Amino acid sequence: MPPFFDGHNDLLLKMTTGRVTAEEVRDGHQNGHIDLPRARAGGLGGGFFALFVPTPGVKGIDMAAMRQPSYDVPLPPAVDHGHALEEVRRGIGHFRALTDLGVITPCRTAAEVEAALDGPALAAVLHMEGAEAIGPEFAELDELEAAGLRSLGPVWSRPTAYGHGVPFRFPSTSDIGPGLTEDGKRLIRECNRRKIMVDLSHLNFAGLRDVAEISDAPLVATHSNAHAVTPSARCLTDEELRIIAATGGMVGINYGTCFLRPDGKFIPECPIEDLQRHLDHLLSILGEDGVGFGSDFDGAILPDWMKSCAGLSVLRDALEAHVGAELTAKLCNGNWLRIMRATWGG
Ligand code: ZN
Repeated sequence: MPPFFDGHNDLLLKMTTGRVTAEEVRDGHQNGHIDLPRARAGGLGGGFFALFVPTPGVKGIDMAAMRQPSYDVPLPPAVDHGHALEEVRRGIGHFRALTDLGVITPCRTAAEVEAALDGPALAAVLHMEGAEAIGPEFAELDELEAAGLRSLGPVWSRPTAYGHGVPFRFPSTSDIGPGLTEDGKRLIRECNRRKIMVDLSHLNFAGLRDVAEISDAPLVATHSNAHAVTPSARCLTDEELRIIAATGGMVGINYGTCFLRPDGKFIPECPIEDLQRHLDHLLSILGEDGVGFGSDFDGAILPDWMKSCAGLSVLRDALEAHVGAELTAKLCNGNWLRIMRATWGG
C-alpha cells in the first residue's frame, strides 16, 4: 500500500493558535485532521507542513459565507513583516517540538522523504504559505533554510510585498489583479538560486504567468483543483494547467469541499466522484506524472467520507478501482518524489 505524501497541511497553524499540542498530535486527538495514530490508520506518510501567519484581529476566512450559491469573501489586509517573522518563528518552534517527540522526520531532499515515508514518523518538509516574514533583502531566508524551509508561496490570498493572491470568490477565474511586484520577481530568482520550491497555489493568474516566465524549475501548485470542474478563483483554469504542464510541473488535489464540489459550497457533503472528476481533468492536461494530492488538512472542511487523514484509506481504495494500482502509487507519492528531485536535485 503506497503511503500518501501530501502537498499541504496547516497542522503548524493549529499549534500556533493553541488548538492542539505536540503531545496530542503524537497520542491522538479530535481537534483537527492530523495525528500520528490516524496517519498510520489512513496511510499518511508525510507532506509539506506550512508556516502561516494569521491576520491579527481577523478570525480566519468566513466559511459560513461560502455556503451560498455565490460568494466573494473579502481578503484581510496585508500583515506587518516584523509580526509575521515572530509568528513564523513560533511555527518553527512547533515543527521542532514535533521532531523532538518523534512525530515527524524533517526532510530536505527527495531521498530523505523517500527514506522516511515508510518510517515510524511522518516525512515532513517545511513550507511557508505567504512570504510576509521575508524582508526586501531576503536575509530571513538563511534562518528559514537553516530551519528546513524547502518550499515557499509568495502569497497566501491576502496581498504581500511580492504579489497578489486570489480571493475566495465563486464563481470566478483567477484573473484578478496585477502580477508579481519587482521584489516578487527577485524573490522567485532567489528561490531558484537556493533551490527552494515556489508554490503557485493562491497566486492570481498574472502572478502565475510571471513565475512561469522567470522560474527555471518545474511549476508546482501544491493544493489547487481544476477550474473546469469547480469554477472557483482558487482553482486552476485549463490555460493555467497548460502553462504548468509545459514545464513538467505538477498539481496537488485539495480535499477542501469548496474546491471539489462543482457548486463551490463549503459543506461536508461531497461524493468521491467529485474528487475523481478533478483527478480525471487534471490528468488529461498534466499527464500521469503531473498530479498528486495536497490535502489542506487542518485548513479546510473535508468530505464526509474522509473526515481526517484516517480517511485516506477510503481514497486509496477508490483510486485503485478508478485508475489502477500503478497510477495510484504515482498519485500517492511517486509524482511528488519526482518533482522534489527535479526541483532540489539529488
Ligand atoms: Zn492554502
